Amino acid sequence: MSRIAFGIAAAAAIAVAGCAEKKTEPAAGWETLPPDAGVRMYAYAADLAKISPRDAGTPGAGAASRFLAQEIRRIGVKPEADCWTEGTPTGRKTFCNVYATLPGTSGRLVVLGSHYDTKPGIPGFQGANDGASSSAVLLGLLHHLAAAPVRPRDTILFAFFDGEEAAGAAYRDNDGLHGSKRLAATLAERAGGDRPVAAIVADMVGDRDLALDIPRNVTPWLAQTALKASLARRGETPPTSIAATFILDDHVPFLDAGVSAIDLIDFEYGSAPGRHDYWHTPLDTLDKISAESLHRTGALLLAMLDRIDRDEEEVPEGLRAP
Ligand SMILES: [Zn+2]
Repeated sequence: MSRIAFGIAAAAAIAVAGCAEKKTEPAAGWETLPPDAGVRMYAYAADLAKISPRDAGTPGAGAASRFLAQEIRRIGVKPEADCWTEGTPTGRKTFCNVYATLPGTSGRLVVLGSHYDTKPGIPGFQGANDGASSSAVLLGLLHHLAAAPVRPRDTILFAFFDGEEAAGAAYRDNDGLHGSKRLAATLAERAGGDRPVAAIVADMVGDRDLALDIPRNVTPWLAQTALKASLARRGETPPTSIAATFILDDHVPFLDAGVSAIDLIDFEYGSAPGRHDYWHTPLDTLDKISAESLHRTGALLLAMLDRIDRDEEEVPEGLRAP
């Protein structure tokens, strides 16, 4: 993730427009995250943080992708690995995305995305919050949804991205966001299949002191979905607000491909407000994240999926398969 520009000083609030509720279907059950899910997510984060460094193209990344596939299989879902090689400023590298799909019946596809790689060049970096936390939330949600008696109508693609982090100091065309670019291109090029209507990306979502930001460069209807979901489940979900900044993260390749996309991120990660001294440092360790925060993020993502699934949002046509 990179904070690429500062907007106006005051946080901008977008209007939560009065979109009439269209349906009052009974709850399906899957939209509520059980209390023990946070502890399970924390355990996933601990296991993933242990596999460090897991920089793209290194044996650690290979071990991390195998860990993700193993846990997906344990949950009872067939994992898919998509591995490819690309030239980067530090030479040719092999990247592997890991996917798990829960098929639905609506003909629509929602991507839940997280990167699992670590930022290279930081000795002792574990990425407990940056990489492990969001991947752990996705695994926990997969565990919950796969076991639910009734599942979402929309197909949910759980996407674990490799190569989000740039090897250099800043993102460049061939350095960073490799995994999300790969999936966005795959969705754009494929023929047939469910229509991708949203990509919801989470990054740095485990901070003990969690407050999620929505960057300015997201699709407005998804920002509203997140705000409404957070308000409707106040107490269960993290404080969520629109930030004044533009952020370059794994949601951007989806925006570029014409898919509605959002990034949920808590960039305030440090020992004091504004310091960010846990970000991209060896201090990004498990003691800085909590099971409760992981649970809250999971609850918010579920509430968003629920709103989309129930047609409570005006979902645009989105990307059409050729
Ligand atoms: Zn990072």
